[in-house]
Amino acid sequence: MTVKAYGAHAKDKDLEPVQIERRGLKPTDVHIDILYCGVCHSDIHTARSEWGPAKYPVVPGHEIIGRVTAVGNEVTLHKEGDLVGVGCMVDSCRTCHSCQDDLEQYCETGATFTYNSHDPHTGGHTYGGYSESVVVDEAFVLSIPESLDTAKVAPLLCAGITTWSPLKHWNVKKGDKVGVIGLGGLGHMGIKFAHALGAHTVMITRSPDKAGDAEALGADEVLISTDAKQMKEHANSFDFLLNTVPVDHDVNPYLGLMKRDTTMAMVGAIEPLSKVHGGALISKRKNIAGSMIGGIKETQEMLDFCGEHQVLPDVEMIDIQEVNKAWERVVDADVKYRFVIDMASLKK
Ligand code: NAP
Ligand code: ZN
Ligand code: ZN
Repeated sequence: MTVKAYGAHAKDKDLEPVQIERRGLKPTDVHIDILYCGVCHSDIHTARSEWGPAKYPVVPGHEIIGRVTAVGNEVTLHKEGDLVGVGCMVDSCRTCHSCQDDLEQYCETGATFTYNSHDPHTGGHTYGGYSESVVVDEAFVLSIPESLDTAKVAPLLCAGITTWSPLKHWNVKKGDKVGVIGLGGLGHMGIKFAHALGAHTVMITRSPDKAGDAEALGADEVLISTDAKQMKEHANSFDFLLNTVPVDHDVNPYLGLMKRDTTMAMVGAIEPLSKVHGGALISKRKNIAGSMIGGIKETQEMLDFCGEHQVLPDVEMIDIQEVNKAWERVVDADVKYRFVIDMASLKK
């Protein structure tokens, strides 16, 4: 069926109304009418071909919340009327060792991502959530706790799981000193989760004007990364760093903040990184690691945790017609702290 969407036709073009095709229901498919879709910096990187040539038109959006309107005849996990979510992936091989370990994001043959990925069903490429509806295999559809505010929950599907997964993987626990670098969409969820897990949470930002907000989000301390004196005071003191900076930058000053045997997990810059000083790693057996979103099982665990503890993103709601302006604000690091598109505006 043909549905309304917003997409970009070239790397230097604004998003504009487009029409896309959604496949008919297969036996294990769920048809979802989209209510809300979050705006991730990855949407911008992709549409602008910053991660290599994109497939156009790009219809971005991988923080999708909606209601199930129809299910295929073999679907058992979801039913009509359910509040559901779709994150960054819509399928994977399901048989490789990563898929068997519930780590579909690391699928050995490559997961099918929600947008701009080869779509085995159509032979074309996938279209994301800046659209009226989506059809997804039930195994990649998440259940959203009804206790959560539907209008705010969308960013958990990417910003949420991308920060939750490394905090859990590196076993952040009560009393650890955890630094979150960059206060944007991912960073603000990193602060909320580290705080909720009982860590002593430090917001590390270039933007002194974000300090008050960082504390309101749950930071115990704010460290201004451009202030050499403050950086020195925190030297060799962190148990874990979560780096959400979206572009290449000098990571060496952050390495200086870490204790012996600790890790800085990179989740932001997906591009070559500037030179890392080997001595900074060798002298105290430090690690730089990476982490990509999270598996479906872990995403459901995160959503259930948020339902239980009322952890929700701070969002600014926009109509789809405002999305190009919102993208400029994301690029300018002026988002508080995630834009969510009210998809009802697509009908205007
Ligand atoms: P965002 O909202 O733009 O936030 C990034 C923050 O980083 C900014 O608010 C800013 O915070 C800081 N920053 C920006 N430019 C910087 C620079 N040159 N040097 C130092 N700090 C800088 O972006 P987001 O949506 O949170 O996404 C962050 C990155 O993660 C993007 O690259 C996105 O594509 C990527 N991502 C990765 C995954 C994954 O699976 N690994 C998943 C989702 C997104 P301050 O003002 O506080 O300094
Ligand atoms: Zn994202
Ligand atoms: Zn696989």
